[in-house]
Amino acid sequence: MKVLVVNCGSSSIKYQLFNMSDESVLAKGLVERIGLEGAVLTHQPAGKDKVVITGDISNHSVGIKLVLEALADANHGVIASMKEIVAVGHRVVHGGEKFADSVLITPDVMRALEECIEMAPLHNPPNILGINACAELMPGVPQVGVFDTAFHQTMPKAAFLYGLPYEAYEKYGVRRYGFHGTSHKYVSQRAAEMMGQHMSNLRIITCHLGNGSSLAAIKYGKAIDTSMGFTPLEGLVMGTRCGEIDPAIIPFLMKKEGMSPDQMDEYLNKKSGVLGISGVSSDFRDIEDAAGEGNERAQLALDVFAYKVRKYVGGYVASMGGVDAIVFTAGLGENSIEMRDKICNGLEYLGTRIDHTKNNVRGKAQEISVDGAKVKIFVIPTNEELVIARDTKAICGSLI
Ligand code: ADP
Repeated sequence: MKVLVVNCGSSSIKYQLFNMSDESVLAKGLVERIGLEGAVLTHQPAGKDKVVITGDISNHSVGIKLVLEALADANHGVIASMKEIVAVGHRVVHGGEKFADSVLITPDVMRALEECIEMAPLHNPPNILGINACAELMPGVPQVGVFDTAFHQTMPKAAFLYGLPYEAYEKYGVRRYGFHGTSHKYVSQRAAEMMGQHMSNLRIITCHLGNGSSLAAIKYGKAIDTSMGFTPLEGLVMGTRCGEIDPAIIPFLMKKEGMSPDQMDEYLNKKSGVLGISGVSSDFRDIEDAAGEGNERAQLALDVFAYKVRKYVGGYVASMGGVDAIVFTAGLGENSIEMRDKICNGLEYLGTRIDHTKNNVRGKAQEISVDGAKVKIFVIPTNEELVIARDTKAICGSLI
């Protein structure tokens, strides 16, 4: 059973083709600069050389068509024909309160996705374009939507409501939704496997630290809190996003700097975070290098970032009445030995400590806490695509 996993952004399409009999990846790739000059498809068949295809990729439909042609190409393809693809799984960013799980795409689901656009104006429209393009190019092939928000739908009201008039929630759905749910779900399940225990016995804090970062508290198998909110802007200080701030700062700065709502949105989403604090870069590698060379603001950005993560960890330990495992994942969490060390420095009160030798690891699933620690610390590479492929198989298995 071959399942195609598609993740459409505003000008990009990431894809992976899975052979679900052994969960191997047959090919993966990326279409970039859709609708722009210099559009390109980079196709990587497993065990073969990368292929770069350039051309006029004016929209997502043209992009998906190129991907399907690349997958079935006589030279660099991995399937004889696109008929071998029996189902498609799509990453969908915002499912609102309507989707607590992955779903088979139907006309009703498409209507519900359209209704969620208002809450994710940048993310949901390209997801919808991708679904429509696949429906057009692969008629009759079932498609599944896997939502970034779904895993967090188990949060209790006390954790997801803001201190705003209740009508804001009732009328407009203003509440905490949380994102990166597929990643939090995957790495928490992997941690339970690595501990040889069932999720229902464990309290886990998952730290998805990348360009966008979020933490989740997962108590006995259910997400009970997470740091991102109504949008992915809340919570930790991120690459370019501010994370939690006093909301009164927004009208204050708008008046002072004469900013429009759109300009303010860009300021908070694109110019803030560790980029804004350091003035160096949004990429943690650049910031770590600059700090190493004595740049004080770069060092400050790293200090603020690590402090915020540690503060959320402490908060979630209190929310769950304890913790059994802490997991680091995503670009920074999987790769930055220094940042993991910095975050964990001071967690001894929890009954855990990082083992500096074990922590010397990048991009590999491994326990990094000292032997016998009461609370285990792990590095676990995330694999959102695999979760999407598994959910797609589970939902479509009986249809094909
Ligand atoms: P996205 O949110 O875009 O999916 P990723 O999960 O790919 O982000 O993470 C990207 C971030 O990971 C970048 O800020 C990058 O600096 C950081 N990163 C990747 N590798 C390393 C490394 N070796 N050391 C420090 N940071 C790293």
